Amino acid sequence: MQGWDTIYEGVISYHAEADLSPLKRVVDLFEEIQWPAETIDRDSPIHPLVIAKTLLKMRMDVASLACALLVHPYSQRRFELDTVKQRFGDDIAFLLEGISRISLLSLRTPEKKQKETTIEEPEEGASLEDGPPTPRSVGEMIGEIHHGTILVRDENQAEGFRKLVLAMAKDIRVILIRLVLCLHQLRLAMRMGPVASVANLSHEVMEIYAPIAHRLGVYWLKNELEDLAFRMQWPGQYDAIRAKVLERRKGGEDVVQKVIAILGDKLVSHHIQGQVFGREKHLYSVWSKINRKQITLDDMFDLIAYRIIVPNKEDCYRTLGMIHSEFKPIPGRFKDYVAIPKRNGYQSLHTVVFGPFGNRIEIQIRTEKMHQIAESGVAAHWSYKGKGGGGNSTTGYAWLKDLLALQESVDDPGQFVENVRFDLFPE
Ligand code: GDP
Repeated sequence: MQGWDTIYEGVISYHAEADLSPLKRVVDLFEEIQWPAETIDRDSPIHPLVIAKTLLKMRMDVASLACALLVHPYSQRRFELDTVKQRFGDDIAFLLEGISRISLLSLRTPEKKQKETTIEEPEEGASLEDGPPTPRSVGEMIGEIHHGTILVRDENQAEGFRKLVLAMAKDIRVILIRLVLCLHQLRLAMRMGPVASVANLSHEVMEIYAPIAHRLGVYWLKNELEDLAFRMQWPGQYDAIRAKVLERRKGGEDVVQKVIAILGDKLVSHHIQGQVFGREKHLYSVWSKINRKQITLDDMFDLIAYRIIVPNKEDCYRTLGMIHSEFKPIPGRFKDYVAIPKRNGYQSLHTVVFGPFGNRIEIQIRTEKMHQIAESGVAAHWSYKGKGGGGNSTTGYAWLKDLLALQESVDDPGQFVENVRFDLFPE
């Protein structure tokens, strides 16, 4: 199969000394078993090269890449775990086993449960500003997700969740790989159109995987998971909010560019090196904020987050001082996540001010390094220790080890979930 060279090069770009042989052995095995199957075309979200690209974005190590690529053919029983052990060694076999076990979580599809948890889409034409479409479920759910609570509805799911957390605590690569595979599964589902079995997947993404991506600080992944699951669950709402945002974007692009230019000039005149960007919030967060706060799109001043990237921490505070001296800040809206980082490692100064055109704008100030962590979270911390790469990939995540300790004392999955819930999703 052509195209692997770019994958090898990609790995080398962030891990110069990586041993690529496991990947090459994956390619050999694929040739033997004629994988990918004919039905998986080159652009398919589950084509190995497509999956590999996302893994590169996450800066995953060779073992994770090899394992993630093996998951799909392994689930189709194209080879046995013993073959993996023999050819790839224990590390990759351990990862593969871990992932296969937690994947079962996505396969729980009892009809009855699905019925209980189905959240009906509001009627066509229902106004977005009318609040949550079905107050009982959607409103509650948004609130719960926003507050980082995961909903665990039954024993099976509690047990599945426990497996997930334990696998994650043992080796964080297992969950990172699972998150990537989940993203590709969703993209595939989007491509294929609505299929009953993915209804559960989108619930699970909203309730478990997106919060975990958030907790691990892999923000771009969290956002994409949420948007895909949102679109799948409530297509009408998704289309409506998208149309509104597009409409508003049309009128606002000029303003955004002007604000960026003005902020850039201010930096120059205060002798601060820095770059200004304007970034639109992802659709799901726009939609949930509108519903949560019972506001209209027009009331949302932070649809665009302005971001200033500066060389170092001192510059962050200088920039903040400059912004507050030039533009009037809104009381209570300043947050210093630089001095007190969030538990997922996120650092940034946040403020909301009356911008150059008199309207409120949200500004985030951070260094390049902080920015990397803001986007990639745990993946940005990736350290390669020892020859095999990966090393102890939970470094810096002591809380994961604490979760393991919990396992020993609690037998009841429901209780376990209760205990872990706060620890995993404190916000
Ligand atoms: P909020 O407006 O009440 O949610 O207050 P915040 O100041 O905490 O968050 C504002 C914005 O900051 C969010 O919309 C995100 O764009 C960004 N943000 C907040 N927390 C995080 C985080 O943990 N990681 C990343 N990457 N961005 C975050």
